[in-house]
Amino acid sequence: MNFYLSKEQQALRNSIITFADKELNKHISEIGKQNALPSHLWKVCAEQGLMGLVVGKEFGGAGLDAFSAIVAIEALGYGSRDGGFNFSLCAQLFACTVPLQKFGTEAQKKKYLPSICNGSIMAANAITENTAGSDIAAMRSSAKKEKDHYILNGSKTFISNGPNSNVLIVYALTDESKGFHGGITAFVFDKETPGVSTGPDIEKMGLDSCRMGSFSFDDVRLGEEHILGGPGGGATVFGYSMDWERAGIAACHVGAMEHLLETCISFVNEHSSGKEPIGRKQVIAHRIANMKVQLEAARLLTYRAASGLDKEKETTMHASIAKLFVSETFSSMASEAVQLHGARGYIRSGGIERILRDATASTIYSGTSDIQRNIIAGWQGL
Ligand SMILES: Cc1cc2nc3c(=O)[nH]c(=O)nc-3n(C[C@H](O)[C@H](O)[C@H](O)COP(=O)(O)OP(=O)(O)OC[C@H]3O[C@@H](n4cnc5c(N)ncnc54)[C@H](O)[C@@H]3O)c2cc1C
Repeated sequence: MNFYLSKEQQALRNSIITFADKELNKHISEIGKQNALPSHLWKVCAEQGLMGLVVGKEFGGAGLDAFSAIVAIEALGYGSRDGGFNFSLCAQLFACTVPLQKFGTEAQKKKYLPSICNGSIMAANAITENTAGSDIAAMRSSAKKEKDHYILNGSKTFISNGPNSNVLIVYALTDESKGFHGGITAFVFDKETPGVSTGPDIEKMGLDSCRMGSFSFDDVRLGEEHILGGPGGGATVFGYSMDWERAGIAACHVGAMEHLLETCISFVNEHSSGKEPIGRKQVIAHRIANMKVQLEAARLLTYRAASGLDKEKETTMHASIAKLFVSETFSSMASEAVQLHGARGYIRSGGIERILRDATASTIYSGTSDIQRNIIAGWQGL
């Protein structure tokens, strides 16, 4: 398997790194103070084509293949220092835009994709419930069919971009007797639909720029035109989204890890404790070597998963392997970076502790590490 980037992919990577470095890092000292999405940057990223990387050109997207899109997101992770903003963008792209592009009807695509691509609306994906996180099959939200429409009742929580969103993709039980496969349907609809209530912002440990919220649904009336992926097709839509999200967010983390490693190398070369830079001590140099090995392994696993997106059945397993390894490596590398920087790693103004707080979430969202291991074990027949 050859993972060398083509000339076009290399140019794409360079252009996004230059763009992100110039446009997306100006607000960096403000992160965490307002706990709000820097929404003006949403439009800026849309103009760069980041909101619709894999969306067809006829709907205002860039029409990239899956691997090129993943390269673009890795470049974003490298160039943009705001992990919360990057996560916000990835959450919309992989869990909303990608399934709309894949499963949306022509009318749904026309209605939502151009506005998502030009940054004028935001979408959020809502599956998790208070007692149905890892075990999403235990969801209680239901959409009961009445003649030609459905009545949605229930609630969703921990929804990234929820407070900022205009459009929701919501998963609900439509046929309890069929269980998760066949019994759950995805619906796409405007947040302003009567019966939808938005809960207050949920405060978090990190990912400051990405707002999180909750929703409750009280007799929300949805016509059949709101179904995404067909009645009972929710598990397929969700599974497809998760393959992309796991591989895609892993790519974003690979970019962030590469930048973090460079930051650590500069620091150990410049910072002296006693007579010489700490990088001259073998124990420190070995820590850097370990980080480099972790980064390269993380990138290979991510590219392995990305290369199968939309192509092979085993993508689900490879996306879980990449997600598991990259998120755990990202967390441990961020923790190592704090230690390497000493007090400078721990103080807010250094920006290193923020990466650790952001990375901690990566082993939870898109399925916890335990759940990734369950999926991988399942593919081994266990
Ligand atoms: C930053 C962030 C953003 C998120 N964004 C979204 C979003 O946009 N949309 C959305 O719908 N959800 C979102 N979530 C929710 C996320 O998907 C869930 O938090 C996650 O699936 C875990 O569910 P839970 O938190 O309910 O934990 P639980 O499922 O209650 O798990 C608690 C613990 O038990 C373990 N556990 C549970 N079941 C098993 C099992 N079968 N085998 C082994 N271990 C198990 C878990 O690994 C974990 O350690 C987000 C979460 C975070 C942290």
